[in-house]
Amino acid sequence: MVEALRELLPIFAAAYLLDCVMRVGPSEVLFSSAGGRRFRLCGPGFHLGGALPAARAYSAQRLPLLLAPQGAFVPQFPALFGAQLSSAECYRFAPYEEMEVAADEERLVLGDAGTLTLLCRQESARVAELLRKLARSSPPARGREIEGFLAARFDRELVASTAEQANAAYRPLERLGTTLFALLFVALPVAVYVPEPSPAPAAVLLAAAALNYTTLAVLAARAARRLRGHGIVAPRGAVAAICMFPPAAVHAAEGLGRHALAAFEPVAAAAQLLPREEVLRLARFELHAADHAAESGDAAWRAAWALRRHELLRLFGHAGIGIDEASAPPLRRDAAAHGYCVVCEAEFVQPLERCPECEAPLLRYT
Ligand SMILES: [Zn+2]
Repeated sequence: MVEALRELLPIFAAAYLLDCVMRVGPSEVLFSSAGGRRFRLCGPGFHLGGALPAARAYSAQRLPLLLAPQGAFVPQFPALFGAQLSSAECYRFAPYEEMEVAADEERLVLGDAGTLTLLCRQESARVAELLRKLARSSPPARGREIEGFLAARFDRELVASTAEQANAAYRPLERLGTTLFALLFVALPVAVYVPEPSPAPAAVLLAAAALNYTTLAVLAARAARRLRGHGIVAPRGAVAAICMFPPAAVHAAEGLGRHALAAFEPVAAAAQLLPREEVLRLARFELHAADHAAESGDAAWRAAWALRRHELLRLFGHAGIGIDEASAPPLRRDAAAHGYCVVCEAEFVQPLERCPECEAPLLRYT
């Protein structure tokens, strides 16, 4: 047995490290924390998540649709970036009553208006439900409906209580995950790789790990069910991964909690999870996008942005960020720089109109 374990443990450790790699989709942002406290923001691509049981990761996605009482603006491309987000030509207008709405897993199918990919199937079902409701309502009732929906998406206190509920449910898994980690990746290698090992300690450690793992898988399924009862997303796929792949059980809390904040805007999640400087960066971009968008488009386009801007300002108010502070330029790093890009924060010495990287109109330092 010891010989077999000597061969298997490196494969097991490699599988665990592979499981720590997280893919972030093109329109997704990820708040990741190795110890569950200090979060950092990760953009699209592959990221090494937390390898320890206390790690947490929350995905968020800007609502790709822009909602106005007259209808919805549907993005023409799978993911819009920078200046595209506030450019009317990157969207297609669709009146609610003409939309053929269907939710297919995480895809939201809107008939001729296009198809969107949301973070998870719960989110696509929720947005589909809203669009059907809007199609049945009168325009004044639609305004109130959209306001209520957006108010919840931008509600920082709701983000805090949802994250706390998820955290409390997954904390017991964190303790069991720590024990499993210690058994599999510390005690077992010591017992197996010592010169002249005896099979008895390795067998005891394996039995303890198996018991710990079984308990963890049962508790994970229960915690996920309880959270679903409170309307918090806890994917069945993550529970299945824990049941089929023991390394995933070590950081079960991270996998299970990934979509807990799927119903919120990234800027609202940021206001709760990130340091103030980082929140200000997002706030600056969001406010600039809303102001830039309001300069063009028809009445429906401006109404959609006015609704979004209203909720943004309310969020900033709750987060203690004044509008002057959110509109203020970032700290100038190069004294010779004239302007900066509000999206990527690059500075420009040349008098350019647009950022060569992300096409966003440049702002001037004052
Ligand atoms: Zn840029």
